[in-house]
Amino acid sequence: MKYQPTIGLEIHVQLKTKSKMFCSCDNNAEGKAPNTTVCPVCMGMPGVLPVPNKQAVEWAVKLGKFLGGDVASETKFDRKHYFYPDLPKGYQISQFDQPVVSGGSINIDGSDIRLERIHMEEDAGKLVHANDGMSSLVDLNRAGTPLLEIVTKPEITSPEQAKKFMQRLRLIVRYLDISDADMEKGHLRCDANISIAQCQMSNVKCQNDGVAAPQSSDSPATKLGTPVEIKNLNSFLMVERALKHEIERQSALLDSGEQVVKETRGWDDAKGKTIVQRTKEMAPDYRYFPEPDIPPLSGIEEQFDISLPESIDMKITRWQSSGLSQQDIDTLLTDSVLLSKADEIYQTETNPQVLLRSIKLIINIELIRTLPTVFISELARAIEDKVIGQPAVLPIIKMGVEEHLSVKDAIEKGGFAGGVEIAKLEDIIKEVFEQNPQAVADYKAGKQNTIGFIVGQVMRQTAGKADPQEVAEIIKKMIY
Ligand code: ZN
Ligand code: MN
Repeated sequence: MKYQPTIGLEIHVQLKTKSKMFCSCDNNAEGKAPNTTVCPVCMGMPGVLPVPNKQAVEWAVKLGKFLGGDVASETKFDRKHYFYPDLPKGYQISQFDQPVVSGGSINIDGSDIRLERIHMEEDAGKLVHANDGMSSLVDLNRAGTPLLEIVTKPEITSPEQAKKFMQRLRLIVRYLDISDADMEKGHLRCDANISIAQCQMSNVKCQNDGVAAPQSSDSPATKLGTPVEIKNLNSFLMVERALKHEIERQSALLDSGEQVVKETRGWDDAKGKTIVQRTKEMAPDYRYFPEPDIPPLSGIEEQFDISLPESIDMKITRWQSSGLSQQDIDTLLTDSVLLSKADEIYQTETNPQVLLRSIKLIINIELIRTLPTVFISELARAIEDKVIGQPAVLPIIKMGVEEHLSVKDAIEKGGFAGGVEIAKLEDIIKEVFEQNPQAVADYKAGKQNTIGFIVGQVMRQTAGKADPQEVAEIIKKMIY
């Protein structure tokens, strides 16, 4: 690599509070008609009084502490002025010089990406461009939605690492249960700053030399290249593609002896390239000043009794040692209902096989999640001990949900007990072989999927009581 990129991210996370940041309007406008979840406060009428959302402040503190940041002893809100039709007040209430959290970090593949800050602010409304191409309509449902803005130090060294950072952050806010973090719905949005520097010049060492890029604190900005900002990257793929493209574009400029211009660019996903949006001369002056209607908040860390969950890595390690696949672990970590069920079973279930089977049941069968954990582990144990076969699982769960039966009672009532003994199973399989010589010959000739047919025949003979996976295994052993 000839040039070493240095990347910093500014990420907006939409909090899933019940009400908006400074008023009591419904914060969930999904599927609602335009301008129906609004009030004078979020519509920016004169003379109204914004009141900070306690839950939003608490969650800002929670995220900050979870990431190892310092919670400010005093934090305040500021007005950030700019003009845009979806911003009725003409300013956004944000935080300037006293953000709620400073510092913290997220570890990506062994290296800590440090955070500059986390601050609270409100979202703007939305413009809907009419089909006639002549007019735009304003929808203020989103105006006033609570956001956390997370700003990293410029310590990310590749587009891939930037993407991983975003993915990890999404996992974290879902794990803390403070945001749905659905990128498609705009709950998680990212702006990226990127500069490149030549590897051999100054003391910038390239990654492929086996040396990490310098951290921002010990490398003055002069050693970094000219930064370019890319706005509104709304998917993980976009983050990676836009940064890759920008590295190529900036490298080509430097290669031909030209200079990179400090500017803001947008990403055109269809064309696969960044496009200049505004240059340094057009950079807005936000004229920040303290929000006079909201007194500074002090002592917030002490005010909230926040119990942090254990670290994600500890959880992952534990679930891995329980034998769960990475995919299953990811599913657990991003769903707080699943996770608390799984944790509950983990606390009480001592048999590792039953534990594993219980977790798989709650991951794969939505219906079972409403049932008590005792039911789940009893069902898992019945399967594990071969008291029942796979086909009985769903009917038993349904009986648990609809008739409030215990696993034992459901098995009895449905006549699911018994399963099929192996010796008997072998007899049945032999019989099926004799009745279906062609299928056996086909399987021996290499037609792997004939086994599904044979398993089906055996299942029919056992009235669905056998475990199809077990049947398949025995067939494979017996067929040669
Ligand atoms: Zn409102
Ligand atoms: Mn912002």
